[in-house]
Amino acid sequence: MKIFAPKETDPIETRASLDPAAVKKLIGLGAEVVVEAGIGARCDHPDASYEEAGATVSDDRSGELGSADIVTRIRKPSEEEVGQLKKGAIHISFLDPFNEKDLLGSFASQDTTAISLEMIPRTTLAQKMDAISSQANLAGYVAVITAANRLNSIFPMMMTPAGTISPAKVFVLGIGVAGLQAIATAKRLGARVTAFDVRPEALEQAESLGAKALRIDLGETGGTDQGYAKELTPEQLEKQRQAQAKVCAQSDVVITTAKVFGRKPPVLIQKDVVESMQPGSVVVDLAAETGGNVEGITPGEETETEKGVKLVGLANFEGQVSKHASQVLAANFANMIEHFWDEEAKAFQIDLEDEIQKGCVITHGGSVVHERFQD
Ligand code: NAD
Repeated sequence: MKIFAPKETDPIETRASLDPAAVKKLIGLGAEVVVEAGIGARCDHPDASYEEAGATVSDDRSGELGSADIVTRIRKPSEEEVGQLKKGAIHISFLDPFNEKDLLGSFASQDTTAISLEMIPRTTLAQKMDAISSQANLAGYVAVITAANRLNSIFPMMMTPAGTISPAKVFVLGIGVAGLQAIATAKRLGARVTAFDVRPEALEQAESLGAKALRIDLGETGGTDQGYAKELTPEQLEKQRQAQAKVCAQSDVVITTAKVFGRKPPVLIQKDVVESMQPGSVVVDLAAETGGNVEGITPGEETETEKGVKLVGLANFEGQVSKHASQVLAANFANMIEHFWDEEAKAFQIDLEDEIQKGCVITHGGSVVHERFQD
C-alpha cells in the first residue's frame, strides 16, 4: 500500500502529519511511503531526513493524491483535492464532521474511506491514536508559556532582599486534557492555580496537581459515555458565570479550554468580567479557533482592551511547538495504521464492526456510514 503525506496548505499550519520516525515505522510494516517535498520545513525535518528514513520525496502533489492508497494529513482537504483522490482510497485527517456536510458528501461520491481524527473513541485501546489528546496536551502547555511571556510580572514567588514578589494567580477554566497540562505547567512555574470544570471528577484531578478547585453547585451536569461534558442549561451557565466572576477579577492569568463535543464552545467569560480584571492581566482562550469561551476575543489575534487586559485568541497553539506536536501526531497516525494493518496482505483493513472504526470511519463504499452523520 502506498501512503502519501501531503504538505499542509493552511499558512498557520506548521505541523506535519508524518515525521521521519513514523515513516520508519510504516516502512517496517511493508508500506511504501511518499511525502510531499517541504512537508517538514516548519517542524525541523528537512526532506533529506525523510529520505534517510526510507520515504520518497515528491513534488507531484496531485499525482500522489491520485495514486495513494492512504493519505494522511492534518487539516481537512478542499473539495477539489477530494476529487483528485484515487477511488477507494483511505483518507485520515481532522475533518470537523459536524460542520462539513458537503465535504462528507464529496468523500462519499469519491468512494473514499474518510477517517475523522476527532471521532476516535476515548477508550484505552484507542489512546495511542488519540490525536485530540496528543495535541491538546501540548496546547495546554503553550497556553501557559504564552501567558507567562505576555505578563509583565513573573509566575513564581520570590523572596529577595528588595522585598517579596507574590506568585501569579492563574485560573484555568475547563480541566480536560489541555486544562490539566495548563495546571501542571503553571504549577511548575510557581503560580497559584485555581481551576473549574463542570465535571466533578475533573476537579479532583486538578486538586491532585496542586490546584485549588472552585466548587460551584450547578445541580446535575451529566456527561457523555465518552467522558465529554454535556451542554449546560442557560440557568446553569448563568450561575457558573456569576460564581467564577470574582476569581477572574482576582487572577493575573485566565486560561480557558472549555469545549462541548460537536457544539460551539460555551461563552463563559463575558465582557464585564474581562473589564473587571487588572490592567496587564492576560486571558488565553484555547477555544478561540472554534468560537471561543471569552466574549470580545478575536480568533487568531492578540488584542488589548482599553483598560489594558491582554486577550490572546491565537489559533493552532500546538503548532507553536511544531516539532513535538508533529512527533506525537505522526505517532498517532502510524499507531492507527499499524493497529489495522494486515501483515499478510500488507494493507489497512477496513472493518466497520470494529469498535474504533465504528467511531471514526465516516464514509466508506460510496456512502456516509457513520450513523451520527447519515442525515
Ligand atoms: P474537551 O476538549 O471536549 O473539553 C475541555 C474541558 O472543558 C472538559 O473537561 C469539559 O468538561 C470542560 N467544560 C465543558 N463545558 C464547561 C463549562 N461550562 N465550564 C467549565 N468547563 C467546561 O475535553 P477533553 O480534554 O477532550 O477531554 C474530555 C474527556 O475525555 C475527559 O474526561 C478526559 O479525561 C477524557 N479522555 C479520555 C481518554 C481515554 O480514556 N482514552 C483520552 C483522552 C481524554
